[in-house]
Amino acid sequence: MNAYHQEQIEAFKMVSRHLESHPSDRRDLWALTADYRRFRAEVASFLSAHFSKICTQTCYQNRLSACCSREGIITFFADVVVNVLVSSSRQIEDLITHLREPNTGFKCVYLAENGCRWKLKPIVCEMFLCDRAQHTVMADNPNLLGHWAQLEEKRKRYTWPDQPVLFDKLEAHFITAGFRSTLMYLHTSPGLLKVKQKAGLID
Ligand code: SF4
Repeated sequence: MNAYHQEQIEAFKMVSRHLESHPSDRRDLWALTADYRRFRAEVASFLSAHFSKICTQTCYQNRLSACCSREGIITFFADVVVNVLVSSSRQIEDLITHLREPNTGFKCVYLAENGCRWKLKPIVCEMFLCDRAQHTVMADNPNLLGHWAQLEEKRKRYTWPDQPVLFDKLEAHFITAGFRSTLMYLHTSPGLLKVKQKAGLID
């Protein structure tokens, strides 16, 4: 098992065990993430309406699946928290079991026959549109381009720490409870810490 698998397993175990033993925390975080979950539903509905056809043809029928062909996709700690909140214990156990098995292919470890094993996939994956898909669907459609740009802007309100954002709050919640994870990039990445510092959010 490599370091990537190990850090993913640790994050999933840490979050799921903590939320199982602290139901009031689970309730608080469910409420805290409500607006973000609505945003994710909005993105999913946009992608399903405009991209599902081309993505199915290009990636699944031709077996390219370029979006999921990287072995170590970036997952934020907040991605893990939200996915644990929306998943059953059994679904998280299955994810962990799968992470313990050797990944013999050149695809993402989370990619299964029927798609991603996450119930609510990482934000980086959800909002990745390859050049070909973007060009085919949006090149001559300024309305769609505008809508996508709005969704990208909204995404920043949850993830980009030049203001207080959900992804930072979720990490802080677990840090206060005594946990640390290498996936807590909003508290450890020099680049993101600089963004927070510039915005006056930290010294
Ligand atoms: S986490 Fe899921 S969506 Fe993201 S690259 Fe892996 S299989 Fe694809």
